[in-house]
Amino acid sequence: MKTEARAVLEQWDRDHVWHPFTPMQSYAAEPPLIIARGHGCFLVDIDGREYLDGVSSLWCNVHGHCQPELDEAIRRQLEQVAHCTLLGQANVPSILLARKLVELAPPGLTRVFYSDDGATAVEVALKMAFQYWRQCAHPRPEKTRYLALHGAYHGDTLGDVSVGDIGRFHELFAPLLFSTVRAPNHHCYRCPVGLERSSCRIDCADVLANLVREHADSLAAVVIEPLLQGAAGMIPAPAGYLKRLREVTRETGVLLIADEVAVGFGRTGSMFACSQEEVTPDFLCLAKGLTGGYLPLAATLTTDEIYGAFLGRPEEGKTFFHGHTYTGNPLGAAVALANLELLENSVLAGLPEKIERLRGHLERMKELPWVGDVRQQGMMAGVELVQDQASKRGFPSAWRVGQCVCREARDHGVLLRPLGDVIVLMPPLAIDLSLLDRLCDVLYNVLQHLAPEPDRPSKT
Ligand SMILES: *Cc1c(COP(=O)(O)O)cnc(C)c1O
Repeated sequence: MKTEARAVLEQWDRDHVWHPFTPMQSYAAEPPLIIARGHGCFLVDIDGREYLDGVSSLWCNVHGHCQPELDEAIRRQLEQVAHCTLLGQANVPSILLARKLVELAPPGLTRVFYSDDGATAVEVALKMAFQYWRQCAHPRPEKTRYLALHGAYHGDTLGDVSVGDIGRFHELFAPLLFSTVRAPNHHCYRCPVGLERSSCRIDCADVLANLVREHADSLAAVVIEPLLQGAAGMIPAPAGYLKRLREVTRETGVLLIADEVAVGFGRTGSMFACSQEEVTPDFLCLAKGLTGGYLPLAATLTTDEIYGAFLGRPEEGKTFFHGHTYTGNPLGAAVALANLELLENSVLAGLPEKIERLRGHLERMKELPWVGDVRQQGMMAGVELVQDQASKRGFPSAWRVGQCVCREARDHGVLLRPLGDVIVLMPPLAIDLSLLDRLCDVLYNVLQHLAPEPDRPSKT
């Protein structure tokens, strides 16, 4: 791009765009990365520099950018209608997509409520669970609370932040939030019950089960990220953990909300994470990968049992009074259908080989200095950097080591985004083995030459 045109864009970005989750003062101190287009697993900036999209444009891209079938699905739908409301009326793609989601989801999830993003998908489940206990066959209006894990992330609406537990995001808003029962998470590297994964019997699941039993009378639901806590730092759950949670919630009459916003649609190797432990939750929250990373669309799936509690004559007031302007958007639903077809017919089968390849790369990284732990669940991985491997002591957060690593990777043509000092690897599922190698080799080389130092104050 011409120097003057670039200068104008940079200036207007600085002057007007407030970026999400971004310390704006540091951001404005450097020339911004401005993406102009994409193809396959690459994004291209306004100067034509190409970058491998190592985190799937924030965990949502599935088949790469400008994927011909997905582009075509949107074009075809565009010739019909771009948007019309789902309040009191239907549209073709959203019906077909609901049917498809029900077919793919764990058995028993038959009702689909659309919204726009992960945060709203979870918010919907929280509100439905609450309302369910007021109007089910044997009402339990005292069941008004939720249980969630330490380090949980479920989105940024105030309901989601209440069940979430990421200190640096959520602490400030504490006075606005409802209180949540908190259980230790399944963090094997920093075990909350002081055990070693090789010899433990998933004792953290017992602690969780006991908390569910203890609070069952006041709990509307337990909210969980099945198989892997994402924003907490890519923390996989031991096998069997989810199944045990399902058993205890059934036994005690507490609803289970599975937030598969990050892990759904093939990320863990199967279409949905819950299926790996043969779990049917009461609510399945879906977003990120639903449209292949193309358009904002989300869905909350639930059972006939829950749905039935909302039926009645209008004046009985059992209606779920919740919705969004763009709920069930036809363009989003059309591209979601194309995404699911590709996933089922060509991508899922290739995942085991990619997952193994990623595993091999992570094993190699484990040997590097500063690498405390490597963690993986399917095509999602985290490399945790620490100042001291023996004590697992992290770097001072002001050093922003994770940020520096990702900045360095960008200079080598790879886009990454850390979670604190955990470097996330989450490429589009359609990535081929040679690009997966390239992605991991770049990170390996950056880590190999890493010389951590305090973040230079001039930058901030
Ligand atoms: C990203 C994420 C959300 C929030 O989704 P948005 O689309 O960003 O609102 C909720 N839950 C989990 C587990 C996530 O990873």
